[in-house]
Amino acid sequence: MGKLFVISAPSGTGKTSLVKAVLKNPSSSNTKLGISCTTRKQRAEEENGVSYFFISKQKFEEKIRDDLFLEYAEVFGNYYGTPKDWVHAMLTKGNDVLLELDTQGALQVQKVFPDAKTIFIIPPSYQELAKRLKERAQDGEDEISRRLKEAKKEVKIGKDFDHVVLNDNFEDSLKDLENFLLNEIKLSGPRAELTKTTLVQLLD
Ligand code: 5GP
Repeated sequence: MGKLFVISAPSGTGKTSLVKAVLKNPSSSNTKLGISCTTRKQRAEEENGVSYFFISKQKFEEKIRDDLFLEYAEVFGNYYGTPKDWVHAMLTKGNDVLLELDTQGALQVQKVFPDAKTIFIIPPSYQELAKRLKERAQDGEDEISRRLKEAKKEVKIGKDFDHVVLNDNFEDSLKDLENFLLNEIKLSGPRAELTKTTLVQLLD
């Protein structure tokens, strides 16, 4: 059986870029990234069946009824769900599986798979998170303040995950994430201290 990892982060923290970089590491060749179903609109740079399976609300609700999701959640007004069969098939084949979910989803997965390891990525501060969301220019002002509010809720849940990674600069964060995901090495020394202090400030 492969190992199951779930990674969550407030929107704009840089989770997707970090995950992409980890999966380029040759040591991660056994790790498969989950593809979720969603009812949200496809973005210009996305391909159906690669980043997500984009399906209608009706189809999603049918899948809920047929119990085809390992977990599902409503995030920012859209449904997102992890196909159950795919996760089971990968793990049985001996592949490690990495799921990128919101914190509600991560907790639901841990109920079904108590051995699943949860990872939470944090920004250096809410000011920096707001700056990143603005720079991304994907959302309007209202949406950005909604995402920031949500970020605070996510941090309250993510603080208890198995591993917290600080995304202050890409290289260090990637190293921290790879250590945990690929080598199961926990943070120690000054990086561990900095991550802890930042988490405390975010919870203030
Ligand atoms: P986005 O729309 O920006 O791609 O994703 C919004 C949020 O939904 C992110 O936190 C992402 O990790 C989360 N998400 C994506 N797929 C799933 C899923 O299958 N289940 C859950 N619970 N969350 C998901």
